[in-house]
Amino acid sequence: MSQDNLIDGKALSGIIREEIRVEAEKIKEERGRSPKLVAVIVGENPASQSYVRGKVRACDAAAFNSETIKLPDSTSEEALIEVVLKLNTDESVDGFIVQLPLPDHINSDNIIMAIDPKKDVDGFHPVNFGKMAQGLPAFLPATPFGIITMLERYGVETSGKQCVVLGRSNIVGTPISILMSRKAKVGNATVTLTHSRTKNLKEELRRADIIIAAIGIPNFVTEDMVKDGVVVIDVGINRVEDSSRKSGYKLVGDVDFEPVRNKASLITPVPGGVGPMTVCSLLWNTLLAAKGSIYK
Ligand code: NAD
Repeated sequence: MSQDNLIDGKALSGIIREEIRVEAEKIKEERGRSPKLVAVIVGENPASQSYVRGKVRACDAAAFNSETIKLPDSTSEEALIEVVLKLNTDESVDGFIVQLPLPDHINSDNIIMAIDPKKDVDGFHPVNFGKMAQGLPAFLPATPFGIITMLERYGVETSGKQCVVLGRSNIVGTPISILMSRKAKVGNATVTLTHSRTKNLKEELRRADIIIAAIGIPNFVTEDMVKDGVVVIDVGINRVEDSSRKSGYKLVGDVDFEPVRNKASLITPVPGGVGPMTVCSLLWNTLLAAKGSIYK
């Protein structure tokens, strides 16, 4: 396969973010204020801190207002729900997210349930999830939304294709399997959702025209598991030791990148693939919230 088979999520997200910036300027002119996203973060998890910094930087670049609410690790579930309820009624806020994972003493389901679906720009609330599953207007979860946007902009035909999703989390695997099978422009695929109990995983993967890997195991999908010409979307973000780097680690995906790239017709890198698209989708959802496009 040729080596120009990369799906460049970083470049694509730059293009889409510029489109979002133009829309945000228009909203500012019409309403007298920019779309506003608030991120709530509890505790000191370094990966979460870095994700939230990335989201705030993206807001700045897209002419959005943004705010980060940092709460200590000791915050109780009740106190966090209070913060959520305030954001639900704050008219200056179009959308907000509570960065996951939360400390063990907080039940994240209770927090997600407390978010007003109209402001749930992460698309995690069951109301948005249910609407998505029924093909009704909804905030789509950011990572799956980023994946379907990528497939659409790269002109990947999904109709009638065999799509194998690896991993069944509520934030990636399960929703992307629903989106890929929906009757929609990107959709109409025959989807197999695989997970830790799947038997004959290799055979399932070898049948796939499109593989979406979201399990969090470094380099899990190897070249012998894929067929020639496959489209590979690698969602995994895994830290592996790398003594040649100052940080002592590097990021890799769930796919053994170089060997699989040699067989793939298209593939996303890690970093620079799905990650930047996730941030982009969050901004897109906030824009939709500000415009009242999903909920009036
Ligand atoms: P998770 O960690 O909640 O769950 C992992 C899933 O993988 C489970 O459904 C499990 O059944 C499945 N699994 C585990 N071992 C398996 C095996 N041996 N064979 C088959 N299936 C197996 O999933 P998640 O939260 O979706 O995260 C998955 C990865 O995606 C992580 O690396 C995470 O960091 C990354 N992620 C990236 C983004 C992004 O924006 N790029 C967003 C979310 C998650």
